[in-house]
Amino acid sequence: MKRRLFFNCLNNYNEKSLFLHPKFKDTHNNTVKIIDLLNQKQPTFSFEFYPPKTYHATVELGMNIGQLMKLSPSFVSVTYGAGGSTQNSSFDLSDFLQNNIGWTTMAHYTCVGANREKITQDLELLYQKNIRNLMLLRGDPPKGSTHFPTNTDGFNHGSDLVAFVNAQKRFSIGAGAYPEGHVEASSLEEDIRHLNTKVKAGADFLVTQMFFDNQYYFDFAEKTKTLGIQCPIVAGIIPIINFKQIQRFAELSGAKIPETIIEQLAPYQHDEKKMYQIGVDIAIAQCKDLLAKGAPGIHFYTLNKSTATVDIFESLN
Ligand SMILES: Cc1cc2nc3c(=O)[nH]c(=O)nc-3n(C[C@H](O)[C@H](O)[C@H](O)COP(=O)(O)OP(=O)(O)OC[C@H]3O[C@@H](n4cnc5c(N)ncnc54)[C@H](O)[C@@H]3O)c2cc1C
Repeated sequence: MKRRLFFNCLNNYNEKSLFLHPKFKDTHNNTVKIIDLLNQKQPTFSFEFYPPKTYHATVELGMNIGQLMKLSPSFVSVTYGAGGSTQNSSFDLSDFLQNNIGWTTMAHYTCVGANREKITQDLELLYQKNIRNLMLLRGDPPKGSTHFPTNTDGFNHGSDLVAFVNAQKRFSIGAGAYPEGHVEASSLEEDIRHLNTKVKAGADFLVTQMFFDNQYYFDFAEKTKTLGIQCPIVAGIIPIINFKQIQRFAELSGAKIPETIIEQLAPYQHDEKKMYQIGVDIAIAQCKDLLAKGAPGIHFYTLNKSTATVDIFESLN
């Protein structure tokens, strides 16, 4: 309720506020499709946010968005809480970023709890809010379970959702990709075969899960090409600013942190400043290498913060 009030408050503030001053709003971009940006063959820079859970976190996100506005990202994205738990706040935040900030916004959406009727209604709502870009995912199994529960309406894989939404022909569709293989897949090869099904079903572009060793990305890009996957694969990057936190994420997602990085960071676990600097430097080097070797775009998992993203982005420019 408080969170909604905050967004409403910002909405009502509108043009009078410096934060939402028309010069910062690029409303011409409002219905841009991400695949068209990627087809321009200039690297894209995009930021991912999640819906904040508390009033404090909402205010903080608002301030960080203010900082990130000067970077004019190619697009931004908003996650959809595990189990569909944050649907209202995900949609609210997508609406706010798309229509009040004027950023081309991609809303994430998952198969969890999805049936044809609900998906149709939800996507109509997003379409009415000028959202033209979706990241379509299966979603994770519920906590404590290793298997995704069978969905009676047939949405059991990312590809099922992609095919259903693609039939509408009105959204640009992104899907998830896993350079080290998805945690549930028995092999990378099997996972890439399923990825191919997802692309054939209508995914226009892919965004990878975080990875820390670029070789995984380059090998993956080669293997996907060999299988005939031609769509752009945007690299998902997370700077290691909080070692313990990122180590936990990496473990959950199966992304390996190379020993060389662990050796650099481990001695500074109690020195926030030093950890920040090393983490940012590693991310800058990683992004430079990716761009030099042809990655079509970099997607920053911002964790709703702005400082590291600003530092990395400015260094790349
Ligand atoms: C960029 C990105 C953004 C994300 N954002 C969110 C988010 O906002 N909210 C959220 O809850 N989660 C999010 N996730 C996490 C995602 O939901 C999980 O990784 C989930 O476990 C897999 O989703 P998927 O769409 O990639 O699955 P799928 O493509 O369905 O793949 C999942 C597993 O099933 C296998 N598989 C696929 N198709 C078949 C088939 N036909 N037969 C048998 N096996 C098959 C694959 O090999 C893989 O092991 C995101 C992930 C990425 C990479």
